[in-house]
Amino acid sequence: MPATTLPSVMPNFSAELQQLERQALRRVRRIVSGAQGPRLQFDGKEYLAFCSNDYLGLANHPALIEAAQRGAAAYGVGAGASHLISGHMQVHEALEQALAAFVGLPRALYFSSGYLANSGIIPALIGRDGAVFSDALNHACIIDGARLSRAQVEIYAHGDVAALADKLARSTAARKLVASDAVFSMDGDVAPLRELAALCERYDAWLLLDDAHGFGVLGEGGRGALAHCGVRSSNVIYLGTLGKAAGVSGAFVAAQEDVIEWLIQRARSYVFSTAAPPLLACTLLASLQLIEAEQWRRTHLQALIARLRTGLASLPWRLAASETPIQPLIIGENQKTLELMQALLAAGIWVPAIRPPTVPQGTARLRISLSAAHSTEDVDRLIVALHAQRD
Ligand SMILES: *Cc1c(COP(=O)(O)O)cnc(C)c1O
Repeated sequence: MPATTLPSVMPNFSAELQQLERQALRRVRRIVSGAQGPRLQFDGKEYLAFCSNDYLGLANHPALIEAAQRGAAAYGVGAGASHLISGHMQVHEALEQALAAFVGLPRALYFSSGYLANSGIIPALIGRDGAVFSDALNHACIIDGARLSRAQVEIYAHGDVAALADKLARSTAARKLVASDAVFSMDGDVAPLRELAALCERYDAWLLLDDAHGFGVLGEGGRGALAHCGVRSSNVIYLGTLGKAAGVSGAFVAAQEDVIEWLIQRARSYVFSTAAPPLLACTLLASLQLIEAEQWRRTHLQALIARLRTGLASLPWRLAASETPIQPLIIGENQKTLELMQALLAAGIWVPAIRPPTVPQGTARLRISLSAAHSTEDVDRLIVALHAQRD
């Protein structure tokens, strides 16, 4: 019997990819050789890079490498099971205790990544009868966590405390959770934490703060955005990630004792996932010590931020209002942003172009990230190169 040829119902990805290409929205991965740092190599060429979230320059630190090696020797490389079966090892426990003490909250829970943490904890805290109030510029993993929770999702305009208050006042949901990036990942601005905490106390809502970009960078000793803004509230559920300033990998949630105990029971991304390699917990304990002890990293970073902002103030493009190492230069058009990125690459400088849907339409940008591993001369080189591109 001849084979019948039916019209294919499979999506035509090659046409869709071409469409992305035409819109200057197709992304490519550059294959980096060597370790992370302010200088990165790809395609056989070295670039001065302003791409990384390794804000304190710890990702390739000798003390952390040594801790990873020590951890591998002591515990092997795999945890072998999830935390609730037999994968919760002494060093994971020690890390959680150190993290809780560091941020000054009763208890902490270590996750394999920030993405997993947010997508697991929101559904564990809030269900169908609840409501999640989410800042319009929140990170994708908060958005995904809110969707997974099946709660009603109320999006409020970026940083608009009055709009949030209005939504909270009208809500009849049984449980409420306000979720916000503490430092916004594509804009670098700090959320109005004091106002958010006051509103959550007033309306009996949890406040989930995702401090992926503040942990290690902001506040006394790098304790993060809560310390930076002087916020203390038992409504706060704090999330710090450990792959950015901490230089390693993973994330933690810190909150009241019973909140953490509940998450251990119910956060599906925690329960149904193999524990992170114990050597990472060992490395993170070493990282935590450096974060706290080496204030000079934050002082130097702040000086670089100030220097960059002064140097770029007279460019025709708007530098977003940010006091953090995330310094976005808003270009607008996708194509123009890509051209600028290419021109900088030709000058040996790598700054990522960030386009929709990561950022709103019409706000494509060069997202400059600074690190304590950059020198003053590095920053000056970027300033000169960007001035050479104005016309
Ligand atoms: C990077 C980031 C995450 C994800 O953390 P990972 O540990 O990289 O998965 C979560 N939230 C925000 C705001 C981030 O910028």
